[in-house]
Amino acid sequence: TPPDLIRNFCIIAHIDHGKSTLADRMLQITGVVDQRAMRAQYLDRMDIERERGITIKSQAVRMPWEADGTTYCLNMIDTPGHVDFTYEVSRSLAACEGAVLLVDAAQGIEAQTLANLYLAMENDLTIVPVLNKIDLPSAQPEKYAEELAGLIGCDPSEVLQVSGKTGVGVEPLLDEIVRQLPAPQGDADAPARAMIFDSVYDTYRGVVTYVRVIDGSLSPRERIEMMSTGAIHELLEIGVSSPEPKPSDGLGVGEVGYLITGVKDVRQSRVGDTVTTARRGATTALGGYRDPKPMVYSGLYPIDGSDYPILRDALDKLKLNDAALVYEPETSVALGFGFRIGFLGMLHLEIVRERLEREFDLDLISTLPSVVYDVRLDDGQTVTVTNPSEFPDGKVSAITEPVVRGTILAPSEFIGAVMELCQSRRGTLRGMDYLSPERVEMRYTLPLAEIVFDFFDALKSKTRGYASLDYEPDGEQEADLVKVDVLLQGDKVDAFSNIVHRDKAYAYGVSMATKLKELIPRQQFEVPIQAAIGTRVIARENIRAIRKDVLAKCYGGDISRKRKLLEKQKEGKKRMKMVGSVEVPQEAFIAALSQD
Ligand code: GDP
Ligand code: MG
Repeated sequence: TPPDLIRNFCIIAHIDHGKSTLADRMLQITGVVDQRAMRAQYLDRMDIERERGITIKSQAVRMPWEADGTTYCLNMIDTPGHVDFTYEVSRSLAACEGAVLLVDAAQGIEAQTLANLYLAMENDLTIVPVLNKIDLPSAQPEKYAEELAGLIGCDPSEVLQVSGKTGVGVEPLLDEIVRQLPAPQGDADAPARAMIFDSVYDTYRGVVTYVRVIDGSLSPRERIEMMSTGAIHELLEIGVSSPEPKPSDGLGVGEVGYLITGVKDVRQSRVGDTVTTARRGATTALGGYRDPKPMVYSGLYPIDGSDYPILRDALDKLKLNDAALVYEPETSVALGFGFRIGFLGMLHLEIVRERLEREFDLDLISTLPSVVYDVRLDDGQTVTVTNPSEFPDGKVSAITEPVVRGTILAPSEFIGAVMELCQSRRGTLRGMDYLSPERVEMRYTLPLAEIVFDFFDALKSKTRGYASLDYEPDGEQEADLVKVDVLLQGDKVDAFSNIVHRDKAYAYGVSMATKLKELIPRQQFEVPIQAAIGTRVIARENIRAIRKDVLAKCYGGDISRKRKLLEKQKEGKKRMKMVGSVEVPQEAFIAALSQD
């Protein structure tokens, strides 16, 4: 297809504003998926995605559309809808010339709408503003058209109104995409350069790589080079998705399609990388490539220790279709053998854990998630800490932690509540704008560790569910952080070590000590539980001793009963972990880690 007949676009929206529904409706209206094959959310392929109603992996679909008597080729690139995948979103956007900015006509603009809009603007995309769900009785199209128009600086009459559900307004929207979006521009005679915006592992075909051709062209059987690594592969198949894969005899400037080279590991086909030809290839890669960077680490342990080899094999398999997943073996006094795993964020962690449990039938426990700290020692050395129990012993001169740029949207009556919350999470206000007299956008710099775990829930409860949040990584910042250890009778329980701000160390120590006191059964001797920063104890509890000899109950008489008791005790012991001389049932650790 000649570039002037191509339009590449994506749909950006806050979660639940109807992106998937609209995408499905477009597939149906353009005739690429027939009515019978249509099932709700055709594009959200993974089970977990469908169940949670979120899009994790982007997909690209080619659709024909006739406008003014000419047939155009529309490529719709579906972007992932969660902050954990901001980098993938940015690469999907970079593959497009325009974006449909979709806003629920009953809800108005939300934080994710803004965060995505900013990313789209950074990529110089043409924005087509659209209100969705106008079929809803609660829709307020005039009000929100004005809000949206104010945001992007157009006239409210230019905001399109559609219903992805009923299909109203979708045809005019497709016409507008053709009319407003620029055609792709590129040099057809230059060496080939194509940008990878997604790569997915398929059991039958190996890795399927989605690309957008910027310059030149790629043809089947050609040898291609991945510019970040210099790795060379043969193009076994090249084609377009419409939405089922359809081999083609090549992709030219502006086209979007897939490549298959037979590689079995998505790490060899990285999002953001540039593909060129092995012979007479390009010498400079396209900008914007970045290695996936784990933001949150957690230990994952099989509850049944004998499942360790299954967990190891399962991770090796998952890695094939998840370039961001990194892990290494780890042992813990409390939990035995497991892995330290790096994730893009909490959703990524949950997805990986859920897949391990579901697809590999594992029961797992995860330790307190931790962000990545850089610890500078007095001797000038810097150590990267992804596991608080490995915090260096030497004298520390500075610690830096990752921070994010957060966008919070809330009704103006909640400004005070949001500020209070952000302050308690060590946030710094960067700016504030009114989208309308009753809705305000607040921009904060916040430590990742303060928002990644439970900030969203706290925000929702303080604003009666009305606030929304989005954020993206924004570098590192120095902070007054300390490591808190939890000790049982003087011995550290590694799984409970945590790095926290000095002001919050005491609260963490007290909560862990109280929790463990409740969970650990009494022993033959008194067991002190302490929380400490270095050698300084900041909280303590005591588990009082019991004087109960189980055998004493049997009064020597019945030998077989005695043996049975001993047998039972032995069984119980298998699930006991020794911390120094204290016997702790594994369940107690698991309960302490799964609470709150
Ligand atoms: P996404 O998270 O942006 O992909 O949103 P979905 O497409 O999954 O839609 C979220 C919810 O809104 C679902 O329950 C949809 O059925 C509903 N929905 C989507 N579009 C419309 C619409 O145009 N009208 C109505 N009434 N509901 C819609
Ligand atoms: Mg969706």
